[in-house]
Amino acid sequence: MGFKWVEGKGLREGRRPKELWKSVEKTKAQEEDRAAKLLPQFVIVFFMEVTVTDNKGDKQPTIAVDFDGVIADYDGWESASAFGPPRGDVIEVLKVLRSEGWKIVVYSCRASEEIGPYLRENSVPFDEINQNSSSPARGAKPVATVYWDDRAFCYSGNAQKDLEKLRNFRTWSGRR
Ligand SMILES: [Mg+2]
Repeated sequence: MGFKWVEGKGLREGRRPKELWKSVEKTKAQEEDRAAKLLPQFVIVFFMEVTVTDNKGDKQPTIAVDFDGVIADYDGWESASAFGPPRGDVIEVLKVLRSEGWKIVVYSCRASEEIGPYLRENSVPFDEINQNSSSPARGAKPVATVYWDDRAFCYSGNAQKDLEKLRNFRTWSGRR
C-alpha cells in the first residue's frame, strides 16, 4: 500500500526518479517498522482470543441443575415461597464443578425471582437461572452439557428396555 501510494504521488508531482526512490525506501522502512511494532500486539490479541474461547466460549462445560429435589429438599408443593432445606452434598459438588470451570445454570418450574434469594442466602454457586445466555435456546430448555435432575431418566439407547423403568420411575427420595 505504502509503495503504490508514494510512487503515484511522486509521479503526479513530477519528482525526479532519485527523489522518488528515496521516498520509496523511506516508506518501506516505515512500513517495516510499523509491522514490527504491530506484530507483538497481534500475537497478544490472538493469545487472548484463544484463552477467552477456552474458558468462556462454547467449550465451557455447563451443568443445568434442578432446584426442587436436588438443590433443595422437596416434599411436595406447598407454595411459591415454601422451600425445603438446602442439600449440603449438592452445594459442595457444585462448588467443586465451579472451581473446575463449569458454568452453573439452575433450572426450575419456579420463577427465577422466587429462587434467586434462596440460592444467595444459602451460598449455592450459580451463574444463571432458567436460561443460559451464552448459548441462547429457542425453547424453554436451557442449553447444557449435563442435566442434573431428580426426575430425569437417562435414555439408554434402547427405548423398549427403558419402558418398564419409566413406568416404575421414582425419585431418589421415593417420590412418584
Ligand atoms: Mg426436581
